[in-house]
Amino acid sequence: MSQTEPSGPLVYLDAPTPFNDVGADVILRTSDNIDFRTFKSILSLASPFFRSMFNLPQPNIGGHDGAMVGGLTGEIKDGLPVITLTEPSEVIELMLTFCYPVRNPVLDTLEETVQLWETARKYDMEELIQWVGERLVDQRFLEEEPARAYVMACRHKVVPLAKAAARWTLQYPITKLFEHFDDLQGITADEYLPLLRYHRRCSDDVSLLASRPGSKWTIRTNYVFFSRLCTTCPKYSGSVFVSRKSRLVPQWWMDYMESTGEALAIMPCSSVCKGVTLRKALEIARDCQHCSQSVMDMKLFSDELKEEIDRVVSKVELEILF
Ligand SMILES: [Zn+2]
Repeated sequence: MSQTEPSGPLVYLDAPTPFNDVGADVILRTSDNIDFRTFKSILSLASPFFRSMFNLPQPNIGGHDGAMVGGLTGEIKDGLPVITLTEPSEVIELMLTFCYPVRNPVLDTLEETVQLWETARKYDMEELIQWVGERLVDQRFLEEEPARAYVMACRHKVVPLAKAAARWTLQYPITKLFEHFDDLQGITADEYLPLLRYHRRCSDDVSLLASRPGSKWTIRTNYVFFSRLCTTCPKYSGSVFVSRKSRLVPQWWMDYMESTGEALAIMPCSSVCKGVTLRKALEIARDCQHCSQSVMDMKLFSDELKEEIDRVVSKVELEILF
């Protein structure tokens, strides 16, 4: 249903149900000229911004930064005051859906999630900020294109998204991150460089774990490959220190650690230690009667390494200031 304003050529469409309620007491008009009929009480409960607006006698109200962000225009439609907003109807529909005691909105894309986050912050909607904040870092938005998510976080100055996206970039070599991504506009060197530094620090810290196997982080010391040296397989010419004791290990074990360390230096994420390097080590171990007893221990050992990688990465901070 549409209505034409009697005094002008603009056509304002009514929003669909439940935002066309006849009992509404205020209209939110979006930037694309959609009128949402809603309730002052709902807006006031969700947003101190709207609460102050309704308490103020003046027809217009400014935003936190003093800029005009929408307000009571003095216009009355069907007996209801009209508030003009600068957001499009898609975002306002999501915002109101969250405020209504019916169901939560469904967020399909990172773009609309970021827009909703900005809107929630603009109108001081604490509950919505928290709810969207949890969804901003949803894996489905980040795992495929973490670089794109990072750029979006910088453009919109969303710190939690920047941190989550940076963490996901560790799944990729830093040199490949922006290979198929040509939209770096809107991101400055001051925002891009912290990502490079973060990736590098994670690489440096976690690759050390593999080059110093078991020196600190191995909890168990009774793994078969530490306690009973195989006499059939080639053995590593050096020795490794585990719990302050020097131990002889098979070469295939050392190869696993070295190749895992090399991979971690490029992609400092914990899945690396469970990937191709582990499969190679297990193939060799299975072919040997003695070392086949190490197969289960290798899986446990790689679990331990995986946990340690995650722990070390979680201590590295993305030093970004918005
Ligand atoms: Zn063996």
